[in-house]
Amino acid sequence: MSLRFYNTLSRTKEDFSPIDKKEVRMYTCGPTVYDYAHIGNYRAYIFADTLKRVLLYSGYKVKHIMNLTDIDDKTICDSQKEGKTLKEFTEFYTEEFYKDIKSLNILHPVKFTKATDYIAEMVDIIKKLLDKKLAYKSEDGSIYFDIKKFKNYGRLAHLVLENQKENAAGRIKTDEYDKDNVQDFALWKAWDEKDGNVFWKTDLGKGRPGWHIECSAMSMKNLGEELDIHTGGVDNIFPHHENEIAQSEGSTGKHFVKYWMHNEWILVDQKKMAKTFKNFYTLRDVIDKGINPLAYRFWLLMGHYRTRMNFVWEALEGSGIALKRLYRLYIELGEDISDISSKYQQKFKEYLEDDLDTPRALTLLWDLLKDDKISNADKKATVLDFDKVLGLGFENLKEEIIPENILKLAKEREEVRNKKNFKKSDELREKINSLGYEVKDMSDGQKVSKL
Ligand SMILES: [Zn+2]
Repeated sequence: MSLRFYNTLSRTKEDFSPIDKKEVRMYTCGPTVYDYAHIGNYRAYIFADTLKRVLLYSGYKVKHIMNLTDIDDKTICDSQKEGKTLKEFTEFYTEEFYKDIKSLNILHPVKFTKATDYIAEMVDIIKKLLDKKLAYKSEDGSIYFDIKKFKNYGRLAHLVLENQKENAAGRIKTDEYDKDNVQDFALWKAWDEKDGNVFWKTDLGKGRPGWHIECSAMSMKNLGEELDIHTGGVDNIFPHHENEIAQSEGSTGKHFVKYWMHNEWILVDQKKMAKTFKNFYTLRDVIDKGINPLAYRFWLLMGHYRTRMNFVWEALEGSGIALKRLYRLYIELGEDISDISSKYQQKFKEYLEDDLDTPRALTLLWDLLKDDKISNADKKATVLDFDKVLGLGFENLKEEIIPENILKLAKEREEVRNKKNFKKSDELREKINSLGYEVKDMSDGQKVSKL
């Protein structure tokens, strides 16, 4: 079986075949660095990371680029509120983003590209679009893409053409808008007072780029005019990715992206987790609750990337407990590592090659650990092999093994403590100590370790 991915362009699963057989060229829309990313945002990066790991696992080389939006409406507005320069403001959140992706075991792309490093490339594309009469300058000096001139506009988002024509009379300057506002969009925004000292003086005049042109410039500069895969969240389909196609294909005349892949939302109380709804959590909240950030990765992998998942803390706590159990089972396999089980490996590949079926891959991991016919050393080799894709951190696991009987006593102690029976709780602590272990009460519960 070969790799099959769901392509948003065709709305079907397609066989994967990269343009250059040796190397896959992949681009991911990264964060806008104006705040801490919330865990809903991280679904997009964990999805892209899983996809990349599956490609690597299948033997492809992958050239992966992820951008950092360090100039747009939001970064300008919020840096001014804090009285900081755009650079100093965005660099802080960039560093925080790097820390977060490390704790989520997300492999680094070959390059993180900052939008402000690609202004010249953006100007070049806009000039080409002006030459081809696909763009025009408005009274205030801003430059807009003329969507009526681009015959494929709306292909990715499946916009209904009639509605599009009716609504396409106006223009929109803000970076983000919805399908009810299909209009000519800004490629270049002429400077106005709200921009303060954020501007570039270019052949296009004094101003700054629109958000959408940034990704066209960064992706094509680093990966060429034709990409294999472009990823993002479903909320990027319109307008962002639709506009990227218009700009890129409009300027080059080539087919910009072969496979568009999008992950679904994380919901909170049936509503998309988003800053605007104020229903979001960051990884700091996860860590503050004593939950391993990898439990979030694990929880996401339990769902398919194209299904919406409803976030509740109980579910994340549950996945934290399940992950700990997996770690324990792995540690109990002992020190020896032998051969990968080809039977399990084949199935694992089969599931992931079918549009990244991570829920089935995880079920297989549990099955493997329970399978009496496989030796512990072979199991260990197979788990490590699976973890090249899952990224759950088995390789670096150094947790000490606490015997089951000690854990049982600790659990008993926790229960009596919750009922405020401190006498019994102290007795149990002494018993645990007498067996060579100690128990400490932390903000997130008990911690048991060897004395
Ligand atoms: Zn983008």
